Amino acid sequence: MIKTKKQGLLIVLSGPSGCGKNTICNALKEINHNVWESISMTSRKIRPNEVDQKDYYFVSKEAFEQCIQEDKMLEYASFAGNYYGTPKEAVQKQLDQGKDVILVIEIQGALQIKEKLPQALFVFLLPPSMQELRNRLEKRKTESEDKMMERFQIAYREINELPKYNYVIVNDDYHVAAKKLDAIITAEKCRVDRIEEVYLNNEEEKIHETLVQKDLENTPIDITKQTPKK
Ligand code: 5GP
Repeated sequence: MIKTKKQGLLIVLSGPSGCGKNTICNALKEINHNVWESISMTSRKIRPNEVDQKDYYFVSKEAFEQCIQEDKMLEYASFAGNYYGTPKEAVQKQLDQGKDVILVIEIQGALQIKEKLPQALFVFLLPPSMQELRNRLEKRKTESEDKMMERFQIAYREINELPKYNYVIVNDDYHVAAKKLDAIITAEKCRVDRIEEVYLNNEEEKIHETLVQKDLENTPIDITKQTPKK
C-alpha cells in the first residue's frame, strides 16, 4: 500500500573517544545486515592492531589536504592533532543502493553533516560515567599518557554538544546499546515523511470510490447552525 524512499538512511554516531562507538557499530552490523559502515580517512599513524583500508585509509597530512582541495570529503575535522574525514563518493553510492550508511565520527564532523543534511539521524553514545570512560581509555593503552588526557578533556567538551543530537544511548552493555540503535533505525525508517507514495490496487480503488460517493451523499455537517445545549 505504501512505497517508501528507496534511498538508505544516513546515521551519524558520535560520542567521546573510548565510549565504545566501534564496538557498538560492529554489534549493530551483526544484527542488521542493511547497515554499511563508512571507512574514514585519517592522517593519524596506524596502530599495531589496525589494518589499512579496513579500519581507516591511512594517508599523509598532505594527501588528506589534497582530498579537501578536490572536494572529495563529505565532512572532515582536526581531532587531537590529526585529520579525520569521510570520503564522499562511497557513501553516496551505498545510499543510492538503499543501504543505511553509518558514520562513526566525532562532533565537529557531525555538525557539518547536520548543516548539509539535516534529515540524517544523529545518535550520541555516552559512557556509563566519566570515571568508566577514563578507565576504558587507560585500559586501551593506544595513546601516551598525555594524548590520553587530551582525549579525556575533549570528551568533557563533546558532551556539551549532546542537545544537538536526536537520540542518546548510554553504553553500559554493548549488546543492549546495539539493540537500541537498531530500534532507533527501525523507527526512523517507519516515519511518515519517508513515504513516497500511497497506492491502492484495483479492488481497493473500487471500494474507495464507493466510500467517497457515500460520503458525498451524506448531508454535510454545518456547525454554524447547531443550537447550543441548555
Ligand atoms: P581514533 O584516533 O580513536 O581512531 O579516532 C578519534 C576520533 O575521531 C573518534 O572520536 C572517531 O570517532 C573520530 N573519527 C573517526 N573517523 C572520523 C571521520 O571520518 N570524521 C570525523 N569527523 N571524525 C572521525
